[in-house]
Amino acid sequence: MQGNDLNISAIPAFSDNYIWLITSGENVCAVVDPGDAAPVLKFLTKTGLDLRYILLTHHHPDHIGGVPELLEQYDAQVFAPADERIRFKHQVCMEGDQVVLADLNAKFRILEIPAHTRSHIAFYNENILFSGDTLFSVGCGRFFEGTATDMQTSMDKLAALPANTLNYCGHEYTQANCEFALQVEPDNTALQKRSEEVNRLRATGIITLPSSIGEELATNPFLRTRERAIIEAAQKIDPRATAGSSTMAIIRAWKDRF
Ligand SMILES: [Zn+2]
Repeated sequence: MQGNDLNISAIPAFSDNYIWLITSGENVCAVVDPGDAAPVLKFLTKTGLDLRYILLTHHHPDHIGGVPELLEQYDAQVFAPADERIRFKHQVCMEGDQVVLADLNAKFRILEIPAHTRSHIAFYNENILFSGDTLFSVGCGRFFEGTATDMQTSMDKLAALPANTLNYCGHEYTQANCEFALQVEPDNTALQKRSEEVNRLRATGIITLPSSIGEELATNPFLRTRERAIIEAAQKIDPRATAGSSTMAIIRAWKDRF
């Protein structure tokens, strides 16, 4: 199956970004959201891997900043959303498009998942999701260019992926996200367990990603805006909260103040 033979590893960048590296056993690779070229170039030099593809989820500098420098040294094909703020040459990716990484024998489909930015996209296949700054583990991105309704629609698309899909997002925010989620839903035992696991991992600086869509559906308040416990938590702030986007709006505003 496409995708099952791919290896994904994290190249840490800045204080809490992850640049994802995709390999398939050959001497070639792809990277996702290289905000900084330096750690990628260091890794490529060390391993001798040839960079063939660059996948971009959204236009923020901490996700695309390293691309021009990488393109000076590697003849890589860039896949990115339609957005005039992404100024280098790229293949525009729209909802439903298929991205073929022939040298890696890999294919990804595109989902448009706006809210963090208006043109944010995700790349996914049978068991892998690159969700950028939209679906964090136990959290979601800020709504810089979209509404709670946009984020609800985006979350619904991601929630519909198979439960065993592994989510590779753009930041190590999981520990703080668990602290907030426990305020919203203190009695959620899956969340309590995830929080303990994350605290253990972070105590020694270990990555908390990826998590599966199934785990996120059980723990992530922004994927659970139709669950009674989350709606009731939102109703304590605004009694008019109902399932879906109104609860999404209240929970996100609460997180922004947290
Ligand atoms: Zn961002």
